[in-house]
Amino acid sequence: MQKHLKKAVFLDRDGTIIVDAHFLDDPERIEILPGAAEGIKLLNKAGIPVIILTNQSGVARGYFGREVVESIHDKLCEMLAEHGARVDAIYYCPHHPEGEVEEYRSDCRCRKPGPGMAEDAAREHSIDIRKSFVVGDMASDMELARNIGSKALLVRTGEGLATEREIDNANIDAVFDTLSGAAEYIIRDMKKGV
Ligand SMILES: [Mg+2]
Ligand SMILES: [Zn+2]
Repeated sequence: MQKHLKKAVFLDRDGTIIVDAHFLDDPERIEILPGAAEGIKLLNKAGIPVIILTNQSGVARGYFGREVVESIHDKLCEMLAEHGARVDAIYYCPHHPEGEVEEYRSDCRCRKPGPGMAEDAAREHSIDIRKSFVVGDMASDMELARNIGSKALLVRTGEGLATEREIDNANIDAVFDTLSGAAEYIIRDMKKGV
């Protein structure tokens, strides 16, 4: 019997859920963006899996180790929990093709817009990628959505305003001021789709 596949939301981290501090290396400096915790909470209530996919090339560049990324994710989960919000999983790409750290210098398939993290998440969490959504602030998030066949939702937080100006509109399905607007749209869209 075929396993029932779920529709999920793939969320970018920096500029979408938290302020993009450019190579954030300190859990104490995490700042949750307006609408982000609320949006995740709405998705939780609707029973939609929420999965973070984030490029963290600071590891390959030698700025910080994996344990720093993981401590930031632990703290982020704690902070979201204080708002009654939770994510189902977090995947990050530590690689970069020109990284200083040999172990992570790689033309990997997980660095967005590559499909690797979404494909791993889909396999491990029984997700139907083609009925899922990517929410992010950068062209690489929108390209990821196109590469995997998910819907591409842009938020105007982080680099979102600049991305909206620069990217071909054909590559975006909808634009929202914050993550909570995107979450409301996703919930409406999924209700329509059943
Ligand atoms: Mg981002
Ligand atoms: Zn990678």
